[in-house]
Amino acid sequence: IATMRCDRAWVEINLAALAHNIRQLKHLLSLRTQLMAVVKADAYGHGAVTVAETVLQAGATWLGVATVPEGIELREAGITAPILILGATHTLEQIKAIAHWQLQPTLCNFKQALVFAEALTAMQSEVLPVHIKLDTGMSRLGPPWQQAVEFVQLIARLPNLKIASIYSHLATAESPDQTILRQQQQNFEQAIAQIKHSKLPLFQDEQTQPALHLANSAATLTASDLHYDMVRVGLAMYGLYPACHLSPIDLKPVMQVKARIAQVKTIPTGTGVSYGHKFISDRPIQLAVVGIGYADGVPRNLSNQMTVLVRGQRVPQIGAITMDQLMLDVSAIADVQEGEVVTLLGEDGTEKISADDWATQLNTISWEILCSFKHRLPRIAI
Ligand code: PLP
Repeated sequence: IATMRCDRAWVEINLAALAHNIRQLKHLLSLRTQLMAVVKADAYGHGAVTVAETVLQAGATWLGVATVPEGIELREAGITAPILILGATHTLEQIKAIAHWQLQPTLCNFKQALVFAEALTAMQSEVLPVHIKLDTGMSRLGPPWQQAVEFVQLIARLPNLKIASIYSHLATAESPDQTILRQQQQNFEQAIAQIKHSKLPLFQDEQTQPALHLANSAATLTASDLHYDMVRVGLAMYGLYPACHLSPIDLKPVMQVKARIAQVKTIPTGTGVSYGHKFISDRPIQLAVVGIGYADGVPRNLSNQMTVLVRGQRVPQIGAITMDQLMLDVSAIADVQEGEVVTLLGEDGTEKISADDWATQLNTISWEILCSFKHRLPRIAI
């Protein structure tokens, strides 16, 4: 089975690049600041367990996931590092699993906090570390920052809950215009100042005071004054820059997508290619059929618009991308063979196609491209 895994199409995960990126990111951080590796969504499509093991070895100390099952997957693999669930959780089943697997939830509204406390009391559970999420301008999870004191006071009074951190998420950190970013920072700091000035004992003991965190990749790369006690890094550790103006360190892409040529043939002038005959040859063409399609995560909207690397050369993809296969015009390369490996994303010789290239073409973001490859493609660690 191991040899079959690279028969058709696969995703290569470069663990050395991943470790390199973590070390590069660590160089940006002061000793006070911990690095949370965001491994939600199967580590942005890279494979959560292998990524988590690698980044923890390379110096990350926390893991961030979106859901309880994502946390359980890491625990079942034997990972013992602290895991923060960044998404909302509120059902009894989720709370039981959180307590059982020693995951750490985000608390983002008053009702949810009460549900947690009640459930933990009923379960006679030990004290659970929880993380308070404030909305400082993203308009996603968390009470508005103006309610921070009230929210913290409620949670601090509840039995079985210990506030391990207070955090927020940035909406525009990759933008060259920092106005909104700085407004969010100001809101966050004002909320923390108000909590500190309230009569809560929370911040009085250095050992027990909650950690503060705000930065995603973009803020980690550009704004060291936003690092606080921890940064939550996703995209950058996978080797991509949140925006092209952000490059204080050298990051290497971790993911490559490869496939094999299934058939090579010559089609005469005037031949239609693939569904709808959206491509008609204007000359005889050497056509290669490649075993990867939109069911693997290659966006169909790139049909007739993408290039693929064959023997280090860019060749055009032609006709509609189909569910399991796509066609290339390999006329420019002599004697292309069935079974040859082509690169859809990644490097071959001096040529390179990145998730950013696809994202630009598709008017989306590289995060979505990384997450789009399906489980049908085996992840091969190299
Ligand atoms: N923190 C939270 C709450 C997130 O939702 C995410 C990802 O969306 C991140 C951090 C990491 O963001 P990035 O991939 O931009 O580093």
